[in-house]
Amino acid sequence: MPLVACRQCGGSVEEAFRFCPWCAEPLRSKLVEFFRPHPLVESDAGRALRVSRYLGPTAQERHVRFSVWNEEGRAEAAVSLDEGEALRLARFVAGSISDREQRPTLVDKLLAAARR
Ligand SMILES: [Zn+2]
Repeated sequence: MPLVACRQCGGSVEEAFRFCPWCAEPLRSKLVEFFRPHPLVESDAGRALRVSRYLGPTAQERHVRFSVWNEEGRAEAAVSLDEGEALRLARFVAGSISDREQRPTLVDKLLAAARR
C-alpha cells in the first residue's frame, strides 16, 4: 500500500484511507457512495442514487451532491445540499428508521399482555 503524509498532522497513512487514523482529517476531497433502489419498486430497477460528499476546506466547497443514475449509467437529475441541509436529511432518514424500530411489534404487545 502506498503511504502518503497527512496534510494536517504529517502522520504517515495509507493512500486508500479516507480519514487520517491519527487526527481524523479527511484525506480525500470527495467521497462517493452508490445506493441501490428498493428491490420491490419495479420502476426503479437498474437505477441508483449516487451521493458525493465534497470535503473542501471552506464552507462553500463543502457540500453533498445527490444524483439519480439510470440503467445506461447516466445522471438523470442532481441536486447539491449544504452541510446543514445534508445533516437535516440524515436525521430525517435515521429518525424515521429508528422510530419504526422502536414501535412495538406484535410479539412485544403479546408479551406485554401476558405480563398483565
Ligand atoms: Zn492526520
